[in-house]
Amino acid sequence: MIGCTCAVCRSHDPRDRRTRPSIFIAVDDGPSILVDTSTDLRQQALTHGVTRVDAILYTHSHADHIMGLDDVRRFNVMQDGAIPAYADERTTNDLKRSFSYIFNPPEEKGGGIPQISLTTINGAFNVGGVNVRTVPIFHGARPVLGFRFGSFAYLTDCNRIADEAWPLLVGLDILILDALRHRPHPTHFSVAEALQVVERVKPRQTYLTHICHDLPHAATNASLPAGVELAYDGLALPIEVDKWT
Ligand SMILES: [Zn+2]
Ligand SMILES: [Zn+2]
Ligand SMILES: [Zn+2]
Repeated sequence: MIGCTCAVCRSHDPRDRRTRPSIFIAVDDGPSILVDTSTDLRQQALTHGVTRVDAILYTHSHADHIMGLDDVRRFNVMQDGAIPAYADERTTNDLKRSFSYIFNPPEEKGGGIPQISLTTINGAFNVGGVNVRTVPIFHGARPVLGFRFGSFAYLTDCNRIADEAWPLLVGLDILILDALRHRPHPTHFSVAEALQVVERVKPRQTYLTHICHDLPHAATNASLPAGVELAYDGLALPIEVDKWT
């Protein structure tokens, strides 16, 4: 956190160095899918060797999840084409407004503009041969999207699971779930609230994300129940996706 000298912000443990939340799914013989274009997208791609993006999925339009969109230009150049992006209606509208130079380009040319083909989603959809299901969750009063791919689900930025979403979370192998800090927050799960979700959903393994500097990695991990850990930048996991047949 800017201007903070707490133990976590001064920590030498690389797992305490947290850039903005985002995940990248590289499917064998399938697409490379980026979830959100975080403010830190450029550095994340350089650090973790992301060299291809076939599709972008958006959870919601808060700045930390969209502001790296301009850096997609590099993938357009390398791949010589537009990249499909998927978002719900509200996020689609917000993206069009926040990035008017992309979606309503100026007449005068000069400087590259990202090439994005934006599709509004609602429910299940197919990304390059991979089945994706949207999971309706709430981020404060605001409905946002979680995503399920096969036995893996990513639920960042939420503090409530919609009633109709619980059946979509049955039989998970891996769940990534928001847990900002110990103290309650109006739009994010606390650790205790996230653990209640884990108890109900019973994934084989859960990783908590969107963690703030209240939670030192090593000490917090040691206090969590079996099958629950903090996620960290660069964490890589094998997952099973559900391919379109
Ligand atoms: Zn701090
Ligand atoms: Zn948010
Ligand atoms: Zn966020």
